[in-house]
Order: sequence, then C-alpha cells, then structure tokens
Amino acid sequence: MITHHPEIELLFDYASGALPEPMALSIACHASTCRHCCDQLHKLEEMGGALLEDAAEGGVKASELEAVLTRLDDVEIKSESLPSSTFDEATSKTIPKPLRFYLPGNLKDLKWRHIGRKVSQYNFDIDVAGYKVSLMRFKAGTPMPIHTHKGNEATLVLAGGYSDQGRHFERGDFDAKDPSHTHQPIVDEGEDCIALVVIDAPVILAGPFSRFLNPFIKL
Ligand SMILES: [Zn+2]
Repeated sequence: MITHHPEIELLFDYASGALPEPMALSIACHASTCRHCCDQLHKLEEMGGALLEDAAEGGVKASELEAVLTRLDDVEIKSESLPSSTFDEATSKTIPKPLRFYLPGNLKDLKWRHIGRKVSQYNFDIDVAGYKVSLMRFKAGTPMPIHTHKGNEATLVLAGGYSDQGRHFERGDFDAKDPSHTHQPIVDEGEDCIALVVIDAPVILAGPFSRFLNPFIKL
C-alpha cells in the first residue's frame, strides 16, 4: 500500500506545468499508481478550470491557465499511445505507463552500468540541463551507501522496497530528499529494489567507502 506521497506543492507545480520534465515524469509515474494523488491532481485540474473561467471574464491571460489543464492530458496521451505488448511481462509489471515512453527496451536488455556487485544503474536519455534520470537496481538485503545531496532527489519505488530512518518504502511510494538529509536506506530482503531516481545535483557520499565509490557513482 502506498503511504508516501509528493507534497501538495509539487503536485500543484506539476499540474500547472511548472516542473521540469524529469520531475514531472516522476510525479506522473507516482500518480499513475496512486489513487490519492490522481484525485488530488483532478481537483487541481478543476481549480484550474474555475480559474480559466474567471480569467475569461477578467481578461487575464487564459493561455497560461490553459497549460494547467493540458499537462495531465499530455501525459495520458503519451502513455496511451504505447501498446502494452511492446514490453515483456516483467517490464510491464514494473514500469509505470508514463515511463514506458522513455524506455528503449525490456528491463533485462537495458545497458545497466554496474556499480559494485550489488548496485546497477540505467541512465535515461533525457536532456534537461542539471538533471539526471536513472533506474537504480539494488540487490535484496543490501544497505545503500551513506550519502547526502547537493540538491534534490526524488525516488519512486517501482519494485521491492527499503527502509530509511524508521520509514518503509515500497512500490509506488515517493521519497523526496534535499541537502539537509544524510541517509543510508536499507533494501528489503527477498526482492531486488528497482527505483526511478531523479536528481538535480550530484550525490555526495558520506560513509567510509566514499573515497572508493565516489569516482564510480556519476549520478
Ligand atoms: Zn500519492
């Protein structure tokens, strides 16, 4: 069951078209699996509709408000245009529809970059300055490196789960971190954890293996 959601401010920025593509993708993927946030976005959409009517009466720029309404439709159109048969069952089960548009093949065929024996990474080809969008795969039962951030990190769990500072995250959960967090998530036993990770600045490793790992983790 999904228990961790994006802050309402992020949903609002998404609905108004203010988020850059990488963050918008993360929110769209969460909302595609989360009834609660999907409902919230529809409410924001209705609010946008009401504003649009007011704008029409008051002579305010309607075009800007129209962007609020079209953002959701855009994502839905992208995902609907993909036949589900494009991907194998494991991939379809794991990858939310808005993300399939960006995926060149099945999970098992992606060019995973191995970081040690327990972590692998696939970088999406999304060219937005300052952003990295990756799939990260962590082996079951693995503690991730202790790390902090120069910027913001948005993690969406797609398979398996992990614990972080007394909180547990599983499929569909959204986890936002900023530079004030130093953390070491621990991956659940039993199933590898796959997550969509969007960052807007490099990760800074803070643990004893930092010196060893830092040159290899080019997030
Ligand atoms: Zn949610």
